[in-house]
Amino acid sequence: METKSPALKSYINDVPDFPKKGIIFKDMTSLLESPEGVELCLEALLSPLKNKQIDKVVAIEARGFFFGMLLARALKVPFIPVRKPGKLPRKVLRQSYDLEYGSDVLEIHEDAIKSGDKIVIHDDVLATGGTAQAVCEMVKSLGGQIVQCNFIMQLDFLEGAKKLAPHTIFSAVNY
Ligand code: AMP
Repeated sequence: METKSPALKSYINDVPDFPKKGIIFKDMTSLLESPEGVELCLEALLSPLKNKQIDKVVAIEARGFFFGMLLARALKVPFIPVRKPGKLPRKVLRQSYDLEYGSDVLEIHEDAIKSGDKIVIHDDVLATGGTAQAVCEMVKSLGGQIVQCNFIMQLDFLEGAKKLAPHTIFSAVNY
């Protein structure tokens, strides 16, 4: 059974007007500083994955890497990083996606996912959903099957879940 973890909110700080005016930044560094908080968060993120076959965890640079790697370690499966352009050394698949102003690009190693691999995509925050949607497209075009998009936090008012439909979403806490 999946377990939401509202207690996690006590480890996450709101930082107003960061990185720019009007944004309330969800700061997870205080969570990383707490071994109890990390344990609680990892348990919550693992809870919906129990009894599911997962072949690989795909996580998004940079804050997705912290718990993405812990998830992969706990599930005993490979960890696949999705990175900003020019960071990955082997042949990459590139995906551009729209931001509020302008666009951005992400890359994944082309040989990191095999056709039929069952994939969990992980990031820290689901906001508008544009980033995770771009990663879903990459995973699908390499033949991966998305089992779940898994987040620590979901900002419900930005309706990212709609963008990720019909994929299954889990977030440990909602705002
Ligand atoms: P989006 O593509 O709009 O869903 O944005 C998701 C990405 O932006 C994630 O990688 C988050 O790390 C980051 N992000 C968006 N909004 C916030 C926020 N309020 N606090 C912290 N990180 C955020």
